[in-house]
Amino acid sequence: MPSPIAHSLIGLILGLIRFLPRYRRRDELASQFRALWRLLLFCVLLANVPDLDYFFGIFRDNLNYYHQTVTHTLVWVGVMALAIWAYGRLRKRRASWLSFGLLLALLGSHLLADWLTVDRSPPIGVMLAWPFSDRFYHAAFAFFPPPAKQTWADLWSLQNLRLVLVETAITLPAVIAVLWFKHDRAKH
Ligand SMILES: [Zn+2]
Repeated sequence: MPSPIAHSLIGLILGLIRFLPRYRRRDELASQFRALWRLLLFCVLLANVPDLDYFFGIFRDNLNYYHQTVTHTLVWVGVMALAIWAYGRLRKRRASWLSFGLLLALLGSHLLADWLTVDRSPPIGVMLAWPFSDRFYHAAFAFFPPPAKQTWADLWSLQNLRLVLVETAITLPAVIAVLWFKHDRAKH
């Protein structure tokens, strides 16, 4: 359960790996971003999609009420990826770039990040194998800090500001690393 910041940066990393061509100069990079922003935004949104279950908790005055259940399972990720991929194929466009593997990676990255987040409020972890098992899975070496998210007011707490800073410190270097690897430094 990292914040949307961490999920978004992870989605951006996957999108950049898939779509950003090698570039030589900074202005080339800038024009690539202008050309790719819709695709990258799509990647960012998709990496956040499983957390839509928070939305239903608002009506129960407990954001966690439905969290980490159905939309945080491997089966849901598989079904969603297949549905979006099939839609892309039916429309006869976007199907080649929107590979099934990328969809799985984007949605799956969410579960992976949640699995790697310190969790102190039961149920601890993610119900990955539902409906085959009700067990909650949680990494023993979780390193993303836990958010305060019991109520709407909690979201704007100092604890969450610190959390966003730590998450950015963990994920932003990976964004920079991808940009570094895509930079073609050879003399032409
Ligand atoms: Zn989540």
